[in-house]
Amino acid sequence: MAAGGDIANPLPASEAPDRRADFAATLAGHGLPRLRRSAPTTLQVNVGRLCNQACHHCHVDAGPGRKEIMAASIAARVIELIGANPALRTIDFTGGAPELNPNFRRLVEGARAADREVIVRCNLTVLFAPEMEWLPEFYRDARVHLICSLPCYSSANVERQRGAGVFDASIAALRVLNRLGFGAGRFPLDLVYNPVGPFLPPAQDELERRYRDELGGGFGVVFDRLLTLANMPIRRFARDLERLGRAAEYMGLLVNHFNPMTVAALMCRTLVSVGYDGGLYDCDFNQMLALPLGAAGGCALTIFDIEDFSALAGAPIATGPHCFGCTAGAGSSCGGALA
Ligand code: SF4
Ligand code: SF4
Repeated sequence: MAAGGDIANPLPASEAPDRRADFAATLAGHGLPRLRRSAPTTLQVNVGRLCNQACHHCHVDAGPGRKEIMAASIAARVIELIGANPALRTIDFTGGAPELNPNFRRLVEGARAADREVIVRCNLTVLFAPEMEWLPEFYRDARVHLICSLPCYSSANVERQRGAGVFDASIAALRVLNRLGFGAGRFPLDLVYNPVGPFLPPAQDELERRYRDELGGGFGVVFDRLLTLANMPIRRFARDLERLGRAAEYMGLLVNHFNPMTVAALMCRTLVSVGYDGGLYDCDFNQMLALPLGAAGGCALTIFDIEDFSALAGAPIATGPHCFGCTAGAGSSCGGALA
């Protein structure tokens, strides 16, 4: 594959829309029960929609003009709940660019003080946003696990999705982080790939080797793992598909490649998602669709309604057609491919 071309699964480009875009019925058709939770082990905290970028595929609709960010009172309650729920071993901060929230440091320090693994989903260019000079050393001192977006090893593809200048800034940020030991044996740094268009991701292991060769050979950049994520047909990516007249085709691709082997490992089984306003959801995608926690039976629950997250074990998970985005092909989650 030539650098600069699309990295894509070699699946048929044109897929007839599948009329069976009913996720619950598809599970049943494969003899699988409705999705239910196990005891939560990860709290994913979305601190808001403010971001220094405005990427085409963004399922959060994030951007520089967004005002919805987590307030100090919500952050304080999140820290309180982390302390009271030791079974939440991993606290995963996302956004927007979570680092731009004025409560970001306090949240990370609170989670680390409770001895939890802290993941930060970093867009890389935020390292060079105004007044963010402190960030790389903060990551190091807090010993966070960085999961960084880089949807291709080619400048053209990255800039098509994420904007002009993003590739060079991303490489510069990776070099800063490598010098501090991230991805270089001291602290974990994973990269995230998502397709530049309406395709499924290619095989994760194979693409990881390609990234390692291209980024190592071309730029001297190192990383730990590559995580492949599918684009979810919601929000900004869904509007892009509609504009291009490819929404039905993409949904057909997802539905027709439903893989029952992905279902056991879906992230919503062990993760609870918190919104900037304290709302609780089964995952970040459901949060963006305002689809309440399945356990709440259609009501909106918040962090002020819960004390013990283990009480959610066994509860149903709210699903919809977008769940085909997690179960197509090799599957997709915030931790990469599933099968
Ligand atoms: S995809 Fe990430 S970096 Fe891009 S706008 Fe959304 S939150 Fe920001
Ligand atoms: S979108 Fe994915 S993670 Fe969210 S509920 Fe559906 S299958 Fe689970």
